[in-house]
Amino acid sequence: MAARILDGKSLAAQVRAAVKKEVAALSQRGIRPGLAVVLAGDNPASRVYVRNKVRASEETGVRSELYELPASISEEALLDRVLALNDDPEIHGILVQLPLPRHVNTYRVLETVSPAKDIDGFHAANLGALVAGVPHMVPCTPAGVMRLLQHARVPLAGAHAVVIGRSNIVGKPLALLLLQQDATVTICHSKTRDLENVARSADILVAAVGRAKLVTGAMVKPGACVIDVGVNRLNDGSIVGDVDFASASEVAGWITPVPGGVGPMTIALLLENCVRAARASK
Ligand code: NAD
Repeated sequence: MAARILDGKSLAAQVRAAVKKEVAALSQRGIRPGLAVVLAGDNPASRVYVRNKVRASEETGVRSELYELPASISEEALLDRVLALNDDPEIHGILVQLPLPRHVNTYRVLETVSPAKDIDGFHAANLGALVAGVPHMVPCTPAGVMRLLQHARVPLAGAHAVVIGRSNIVGKPLALLLLQQDATVTICHSKTRDLENVARSADILVAAVGRAKLVTGAMVKPGACVIDVGVNRLNDGSIVGDVDFASASEVAGWITPVPGGVGPMTIALLLENCVRAARASK
């Protein structure tokens, strides 16, 4: 049985259309949502991500400002840029593209972003709100995954969700969101023993690692929902996820493709967060 495809590209287009409507409604009230993107250094993948975010924001009517800063920028100068954006009334969302140059303390920079403008949801205040069960700004990739699951009506309450990857931006917040929907959640990571068997017990299996073909069809429970967050560039330039799509899609009940699954949802949810921040600003 071939799995149903969770089409993130088409759902993200719907989310962006709703964002566009909301931007038009806000403009009637004299509010033009503004997004500031801060890019420090010349990481090629970051450049592509930033370009896509800026393009998507402009298509929905969200005004964007891109700050391209040299890799040699001092931590203080970067913090000053963020502080200036915190004080700018025309900016409602601030996105600091990661990774930052090695000499910069990433945690300190993320903690300097005003929680109200933290549309990535990385500030400890926003992560803490998520832990407390009163989410405010939710990190975009986990929020996008939840939207995909809910749209496809994948049963969550009582389901066993296995999240492979424990980063602060994907694995941990996603585990909390699944828990909030009454899933029984297991978080796996690089030290997890017997990953294959744990994965095979999942009704919902999420791979957020960054390793091509980590998850094969033999690790998928028949009928399970497989969410592939990974983005891996192969030597031939193609992009694949963490899941071996060919074998996993033979066993799974639902599966996200890469590209066209989680990636587009991340950008759409970022814009949604920006518009929410703009609405809350007045
Ligand atoms: P990360 O490097 O911060 O975390 C990777 C996690 O994988 C760690 O928790 C580590 O313990 C775990 N891990 C490593 N090797 C493992 C193994 N062999 N078995 C089990 N667990 C293992 O990565 P991240 O920032 O969470 O990103 C993960 C992947 O998701 C990357 O490919 C990244 O590019 C992608 N990503 C995609 C989107 C999107 O919008 N599609 C957004 C963010 C990240």
